[in-house]
Amino acid sequence: MESKKLKPNAQKFLDEVTKKISPNFTIKSKSEKSGLYALVSPIIKIFNKDVDENYITVLFGTMWVPSDFYERTDGSSLQILAHETRHEYDRRIYGSVLFSLIYLFPQVLSIFSLLSVLSIWFGPMWLLWLLSLICLAPLPAPGRAYLERNGYRINYIMERWGYGNTNMKPSLDWYTEQFTNSSYYYMFPFKNIVVKQLGDEESIKNDEYNKQVIEFLRNNNLLSINP
Ligand SMILES: [Zn+2]
Repeated sequence: MESKKLKPNAQKFLDEVTKKISPNFTIKSKSEKSGLYALVSPIIKIFNKDVDENYITVLFGTMWVPSDFYERTDGSSLQILAHETRHEYDRRIYGSVLFSLIYLFPQVLSIFSLLSVLSIWFGPMWLLWLLSLICLAPLPAPGRAYLERNGYRINYIMERWGYGNTNMKPSLDWYTEQFTNSSYYYMFPFKNIVVKQLGDEESIKNDEYNKQVIEFLRNNNLLSINP
């Protein structure tokens, strides 16, 4: 029987920060997938085949985790939880519908291609609707990149000030790869912009949610370097 207990600091973050932002937030294992995640995971797998083993997916207040999640170190689970909580924080700001559209644009426009089936009897409009299939291509997704920038800035906070990493280049390179490779369907190929955005410390420190994360680290003696 796998243990499903969060490590102490991650549990504390869940109780003190996450639940205040999203009171019904729950964590479920991908090995027992159900509901919406069971529905979307085959689609994600088309471009990200390790989504069940190596990625955390948060959908409308449920964080789906790989089965080894609970064996991670406290620092690692805290980092993941704080990143995913950022998505919940943004979902609260925009509302679920707008948040989902921002995250899925422009690929979400491909659903208009379904209209081509309906309009085929009414002249050449169906061709236009069918064109919306182009949106399924790995076109840049600025909204998704923006929301993940907010997420990966949490990883930056944890590594830069939590662990006291003074050379952030390797981490920044790794985060940037997530933006340019298939992990998030090639969401943003412009590496220089990503690196600059993720490492903009002034803007990181001025963000309301980030302030809560830094405060949590400070109150629990988890800061190696004072931001
Ligand atoms: Zn994320």
